[in-house]
Amino acid sequence: MSGELDGLVALVTGGASGIGAAVAARLQADGARVAVLDLDADAAAEGQLGVVCDVADDASVRAAVARVVEELGGLDVVVNNAGIGAAGTVADNSDEEWHRVLDVNVLGMVRVTRAALPHLRASSAPAVVNTSSIAATAGLPQRALYSASKGAVLALTRAMAADHVREGIRVNCVSPGTADTPWVQRLLDAADDPVAERTALEARQPHGRLVSAAEVADAVAYLASPRSRSTTGTSLAVDGGMQELRLRPR
Ligand code: NAD
Repeated sequence: MSGELDGLVALVTGGASGIGAAVAARLQADGARVAVLDLDADAAAEGQLGVVCDVADDASVRAAVARVVEELGGLDVVVNNAGIGAAGTVADNSDEEWHRVLDVNVLGMVRVTRAALPHLRASSAPAVVNTSSIAATAGLPQRALYSASKGAVLALTRAMAADHVREGIRVNCVSPGTADTPWVQRLLDAADDPVAERTALEARQPHGRLVSAAEVADAVAYLASPRSRSTTGTSLAVDGGMQELRLRPR
């Protein structure tokens, strides 16, 4: 499929690590000129434009989007992927923690999309792809705040798709299950026995393994490309069947 994004410009937030890095690499392999917007200054891989950006800061987002358009000559594909986690029940997280996670996971996507919209309207193949999560719908224990943030990503995806469908701007999201990224590795490393913890985590997945970042990137690439030109407002699960089959971790 190499070449299907030839001539297009894509930006990926949170593209320095994990799913975002895999998405940036995949869109680049498909022919897009790719910008990575991340807190991490060394965000970009070879051939990508790295832009330091905090999606929780509107001025930072507006400056980053302007720089992408100026240096890469437009903007066609926006991948809102930057996100942070939070553990706990509603009894555990403070107001400050709620504000912080919603600011990054929900408002971050709003800010980037808002800044990108004028450029997407000028594009011949505009697409927005957001990273939601199985947490949006699964009712995971000990993930109240994170689940609320990803539920909001799903709802916003549908609302934005409705608002912009007549303009030809498609908005979709991917909903990964547990993906093998530095984020998940950090959680495993906090356990007494990270190797045993990984084995147990894999066994709890419906298909017996973690989802790979490249598999999520494949789904994002499809939703970003004109191959999915009649698809908008949807969520594509990449979770080994957990959501669609109503399977629960074993
Ligand atoms: P990761 O921690 O490996 O990468 C996240 C990236 O986002 C990092 O490069 C980080 O610097 C960047 N980032 C964080 N806050 C930012 C901010 N304010 N501004 C700009 N960049 C920021 O995480 P990952 O596992 O690759 O997760 C990526 C996305 O996928 C997140 O939205 C996460 O919620 C979602 N997700 C992950 C999993 C999983 O199991 N790993 C499952 C479902 C959904």
